[in-house]
Amino acid sequence: MQSLIQLLPDAIANQIAAGEVVQRPASVIKELLENAVDAGSTRIDVVLKDAGKTLIQVSDNGSGMSVQDARMCFERHATSKIREQNDLFGIRTLGFRGEALASIAAVAQVKLRSRLKDVELGTEIEIAASQVKKQEACAMAPGTTFMVRNLFFNVPARRNFLKSNPVETRHILNEFIRVALPHPEIHLTLTHNDTPVYDLPAGDLTQRIYALFGQDLKDKLSPVAEKAGYASFSGYIGQPEIYRKNRGEQFFFVNNRFIKSPYLNHAIAQAFQDFIPKETYPFYCIFIEIDPVHVDINIHPTKTEVKFDDERTLYVLLQSIVKRALAQTSAAPSFDFKETPTTTDIYQSQPPAPPAMPTKQGKGPGAPKNLEPRQKARTEDWETLYKPAQRIPQPPVEKPASPQLFPSPKTSAKQAETSEGQVLFQLSGGYILLERENSLLIIHQQLAHQRILFERLLHSQEGKQLPSQTLLFPQTVEFSAADFLMVKEWEEPLTQMGFEVKEFGKNTLVVYGTPAGVPTGKVREIFEEMLADIKASGQDRLERQLFEGMARSIAARTAVTPNQKLSMLELRQMVEDLFRCTAPGFAPNGKPTYKEMPLSGLADFFQ
Ligand code: ADP
Ligand code: MG
Repeated sequence: MQSLIQLLPDAIANQIAAGEVVQRPASVIKELLENAVDAGSTRIDVVLKDAGKTLIQVSDNGSGMSVQDARMCFERHATSKIREQNDLFGIRTLGFRGEALASIAAVAQVKLRSRLKDVELGTEIEIAASQVKKQEACAMAPGTTFMVRNLFFNVPARRNFLKSNPVETRHILNEFIRVALPHPEIHLTLTHNDTPVYDLPAGDLTQRIYALFGQDLKDKLSPVAEKAGYASFSGYIGQPEIYRKNRGEQFFFVNNRFIKSPYLNHAIAQAFQDFIPKETYPFYCIFIEIDPVHVDINIHPTKTEVKFDDERTLYVLLQSIVKRALAQTSAAPSFDFKETPTTTDIYQSQPPAPPAMPTKQGKGPGAPKNLEPRQKARTEDWETLYKPAQRIPQPPVEKPASPQLFPSPKTSAKQAETSEGQVLFQLSGGYILLERENSLLIIHQQLAHQRILFERLLHSQEGKQLPSQTLLFPQTVEFSAADFLMVKEWEEPLTQMGFEVKEFGKNTLVVYGTPAGVPTGKVREIFEEMLADIKASGQDRLERQLFEGMARSIAARTAVTPNQKLSMLELRQMVEDLFRCTAPGFAPNGKPTYKEMPLSGLADFFQ
């Protein structure tokens, strides 16, 4: 009888393994970069076409491979990094499973060129879908080049599953950064569609950090250095004033391997909590050197999750190290973000290091930039937002408020009438009162304004470009290379919404104009908010969603604040505009914009 069970052909087995190792172009970059690092390279060049979908090329000047090894490296479980079982518990190299190249070659067209230093000729091998197409000698400099073309060309389902180019590029850059940070001694470059994105010369860690994340970090990093038991810590934390709007710039490396650890991240977040505003994130890049017997990096195929045998001790250590580093930066909060500390804060098991005194009166060098008393947006700023939809003639001078019928001793109320004749009050605290259809409405002015602005910005996508106000002093906004790639994709929606932007040199945008009414000083903030929003939502968004996210960010940044006094005219305009919205009841963030109380309820109350 014929046997039913058969061994899978290698090509199929490799393709299955590839499912685990190679999820997207970024996975290929990661594996190729790690191999180049393991090969002892001092220079690595990455070249990409179409977010790596068409071409991923990684060249290094490392050890190179012999003719036999060049062929062998594509076999599954072919590795030079582990010889015996014991090696598994002392891994210092990035790779060791010996399945990356086999997996990549199973789902792409790969060309490898490699030459040992003391051999005159190199070897060139072409392999596609696990089939070797050719192998021959070639002339080249010592080192190795992998060219990976048309990823998933033979697995259409996977290829179709790939996300848009900006999304895939973002993933690639993340992997690139995770290799670049722990290896400042290696000169790394990255070129995408013939545009140089990174050129990171060999240097020290701080130079690498500045080159990757921007010169605004210069002199704003505090070193972390501590040896405790079997673990030692090094690296940098960002001083509180350079907090970020998203988590993108937080890195842990264990034995030079990037890892994700929400638990350890929490330790740092706790240490920072009195120093930076809520919902912002400190920069950190922390290296933990730890005897490999105390950590298991083998629990996940892509190896970003690790298991420490004593995580709690690491947590406590890390937290106290960071607290101490913070105390030393004299970045003591001369401001108060949090309300009074809670009892749990005070009775924490580890007493927090006492914050040092601010060095200067008021704004010490450590004081965050935007902590001056919040400037009241000038009314004219946002008023102009109404210009395009102006329906009511604007009186040159504001009329004095009509006498208040029921002046309240507690609330300072203003009163006006809408065009429909309803009575309007502005209560302190940012509420607008009015009567509508036998109900009393209490409108939250800030949330209502956000809704109005949001819808106006959205309409601009339907072909009606919003008017732009030209800035007297064009503003330049600098981004990290990764963020800049994203921002570049926004040119069209930004223009629709009334921005005038132009690329200006490396990773910099000049903003010549903003949507009418956007306060000049907020341009940078708006871009940060848009980036944070888009990253937080996973970036895998359709154009429409992208546009909505941008509109939401702009509306949130430009709406009136609750403590802003509005003129009669503005009150009326606000109410009218709100009820012209398609969804007047909710702000773009989902919060209600007003509360409705039926007047019949009042009658019941007074019996
Ligand atoms: P692993 O890295 O887990 O050993 P890979 O499939 O990534 O497995 O690579 C297989 C082997 O090919 C490596 O162990 C190494 O010997 C060799 N190799 C891969 N890339 C390079 C390179 N850039 N330079 C020198 N040798 C390489
Ligand atoms: Mg490898």
